[in-house]
Amino acid sequence: MQFETLAIHDGQAPDPHTGSVTVPVYQASTFERADLQRHGEFFYSRIGNPTRAALESTIALLENGRYGLAFASGVAATLAALQVVKPGEHIVASNDIYGGSYRIFEQLLRPLGVTTSYAESSDTASYKACITPETRLIWIETPSNPLLQLSDIRALASLAKERGILLAVDNTFLSPYFQRPLELGADIVVHSTTKYLGGHSDVIGGAVITSDAALHTIIKNYQAAAGAIPAPWDCWLILRGLKTLKIRMKEHEANALHLAKFLEQHPAVEQVFYPGLPSHPQHELAKQQMSGFGGMVTFALKGGLPAVEQLVARIKLFILADSLGGVESLIASPAKMTLGALSIEERARRRCTDNLVRLSVGLENAEDLEADLLNAIT
Ligand SMILES: *Cc1c(COP(=O)(O)O)cnc(C)c1O
Repeated sequence: MQFETLAIHDGQAPDPHTGSVTVPVYQASTFERADLQRHGEFFYSRIGNPTRAALESTIALLENGRYGLAFASGVAATLAALQVVKPGEHIVASNDIYGGSYRIFEQLLRPLGVTTSYAESSDTASYKACITPETRLIWIETPSNPLLQLSDIRALASLAKERGILLAVDNTFLSPYFQRPLELGADIVVHSTTKYLGGHSDVIGGAVITSDAALHTIIKNYQAAAGAIPAPWDCWLILRGLKTLKIRMKEHEANALHLAKFLEQHPAVEQVFYPGLPSHPQHELAKQQMSGFGGMVTFALKGGLPAVEQLVARIKLFILADSLGGVESLIASPAKMTLGALSIEERARRRCTDNLVRLSVGLENAEDLEADLLNAIT
């Protein structure tokens, strides 16, 4: 079956008790046991809940993985996936990763004896150079945030296999509709379901997908023990989002490409970062490992921070907000907002300059969005 059919049907059969065509919100903490010896598939909702189970199996199918696990947030999913690394071991992560993932590596894992080195996101040789005998995992996010650089998933997967280590991919920016890292050789996929999978800016969630039973067991045991599970209602919202993932992603992409082309022509714009533009240095890799270019567009303004401040003050349709992946268009300053907590040196290392603007292009009319930008960029 094709992607959009799986998204609507699989793991979401009509409710056996009532025939309800949507999976019910099983708002229950506990489930009756048959007797002292036996319990059914569900007995306590931290361990398992039927609404969550439907979400977990649907997300696994969409990523073409065997096992899915849902979490209360993307960072909870990230920390859960990182349980496959033990104290004394080492991680190689891409330079240009989500600020919250960087915080986990530096503030949560480093004090526990798990160290992380950072490789140039787009340069496979740079990851290779960072590998030590202690390295257990390569962690990438592609396209990266906010510069939309790509990491070569196939090349890094074969490097990882060669060295006997694991490759994990944060696939939040593209969603499984445009990129399926497990098919390219990755071992673990992580999502912030808050973004495109939920898709409506109304829920926080995360997910981890793998096809490896041993890795799944480690992460599932952590899910049960640490307890950062999503509520049944939140699972239901994300399940609803998944049903329209294909049509939303196609439209996000069409609008993003339209605006990226428009911005590239604009005299006040210094550079546009969008993997769908032939000017993107990794446009060819994008066409190989992704089936679409996504809805995120970053650009640099010639006028520096004052020009960014003017733009966000004048813009009307784009909402100044930190998240991404919802139906409404959002605008953000990576330097002041999403990566604002990092030190100046750390931002410089990531080439996150003050003149960058990041757009999460929504599902409004492309001409309306273009007119809004044209009116606001001075
Ligand atoms: C938002 C985000 C996260 C963290 O997800 P939360 O749901 O906010 O915890 C992780 N990775 C990427 C790429 C994100 O955009």
